[in-house]
Amino acid sequence: MSSEREVVEGCPTELFIGGKWVAAEGGKTLAVEDPATGTTLCDVADASPADGKAALDAAVAAQAEWAATPPRERGEILRRTYELMTERADDLALLMTLEMGKPVAESKGEIAYAAEFFRWFAEEAVRIEGGYQVAPNGSGRFLLMRQPVGPCLLITPWNFPAAMGARKIGPAVAAGCTMVIKPAAQTPLSMLKLAELMTEAGLPAGVLNVVTTHDAGGVMEPLIRDGRARKLSFTGSTPVGRKLIEQAADQVLRTSMELGGNAPLLVFEDADLDKAVNGAMLAKMRNGGEACTSANRIYVHSSVMDEFSSRLTERMAALNVGRGTEEGVEVGPLIDGKQRDKVADLVADAIAQGARTLTGGSVAEGNGYFFQPTVLADVPVSARLQKEEIFGPVAPLTAFETEDEAVRMANDTEFGLVSYLFTKDLSRALRVSERLEAGMIGLNQGIVSNPAAPFGGVKQSGLGREGGTVGIDEYLDLKYVAVNVD
Ligand code: NAP
Repeated sequence: MSSEREVVEGCPTELFIGGKWVAAEGGKTLAVEDPATGTTLCDVADASPADGKAALDAAVAAQAEWAATPPRERGEILRRTYELMTERADDLALLMTLEMGKPVAESKGEIAYAAEFFRWFAEEAVRIEGGYQVAPNGSGRFLLMRQPVGPCLLITPWNFPAAMGARKIGPAVAAGCTMVIKPAAQTPLSMLKLAELMTEAGLPAGVLNVVTTHDAGGVMEPLIRDGRARKLSFTGSTPVGRKLIEQAADQVLRTSMELGGNAPLLVFEDADLDKAVNGAMLAKMRNGGEACTSANRIYVHSSVMDEFSSRLTERMAALNVGRGTEEGVEVGPLIDGKQRDKVADLVADAIAQGARTLTGGSVAEGNGYFFQPTVLADVPVSARLQKEEIFGPVAPLTAFETEDEAVRMANDTEFGLVSYLFTKDLSRALRVSERLEAGMIGLNQGIVSNPAAPFGGVKQSGLGREGGTVGIDEYLDLKYVAVNVD
């Protein structure tokens, strides 16, 4: 693995437009901070609306030729991207840890996960199917073809700086779309590095354009309203998603929205408690709790609550919190001071409403934005953290008595991304899985993400799916040709 300085210095910091690295208008830059120390890692280009327009111009100019590139060629570029990411996983992971904070081992996990999207969509690029059908009255034929939607606008959050982009770039490249991607201002480095690596893998100029900016709305809104981009794919919070859907309505853009979550995790009285505790640790603590899939509310049958809570508390209290680059660290800092204060406020509100702290509960020592892994018991349903995404290492426990009560509490949210349930009873597992209002269910396991599976939510957690065999459809338009055979 290279040193911290080498990976930061080896990372591009300019905008990537039309296959060239260019400075932002007026040479403006924005600082990227290490959340473990609060110090500046480096400065990257701070795009203006004019820079954003130049990026869209480049994507539009490259679209026709890219759409005509043989699917096998597009697939091979994705496959090489997968290979390069895998070969360079150590350096890519270190870079991610420096800008985002998660422990290096978790960053490596994300690099592997992100790389898998490129491998998966390398395989999907050559499986874009059409159809042929005899009309029901026998007098004509239907030809169905799938074509790239056109230039895409992609916007990603800071919590998974590589994977959230890979889930969009992989299928867009496979489908034959060009794109402008705007990574989060707090974690632009992983995406800039990925653009460099995809160029090395053979991606032609103009297919992928990257703009980094402190002014997300100012740069992206004109592009969304421009009319030349035909698709907007966003991963981020529900409030921003709502705003973008409104903007996209102007030009009737196709949209994919991967928005917020408020995942319930249900532990029934017949659950295998080893699996339930392991699953809860994973569902809660992956990415330090800063995940849309994070278990936000843990509902446990009253008969197993004491045992479950003491085992979970023991595991949470033993976690090693620190700078993600240090050996043995299991939980890094939160992304910034605002997020740390929000977690502290949610915990204080729950305690004021009667919750008991079993472990943690406070901001942790240090210059960075650390919060102690926390377990809260007897959390009332009126507590704010039952309604809002915590996005931190806090596990709130609430007891239930009946299956109906558990399902009702689980569904009592405007979100519907993922739910987890732990039970050994097959009938209950299927019955409850059907009743839970979520796009994904973790059944006796605390992780659902897999590039080969359709990821996405219902209700206000979003529109569309990423990954799986349907992931590429988000970047393809279906065309039907009515054929006269007389
Ligand atoms: P966010 O504030 O919504 O930001 C997400 C992205 O949108 C960032 O790149 C941000 O830029 C940009 N943005 C903000 N305002 C914008 C605007 N007016 N126009 C265009 N772009 C705008 O979310 P976040 O705090 O980064 O991420 C956490 C949220 O993402 C959580 O709610 C989490 O659940 C959700 N998430 C969902 C999934 C999923 O698959 N469903 C996965 C991961 C995260 P700046 O960086 O400049 O603010």
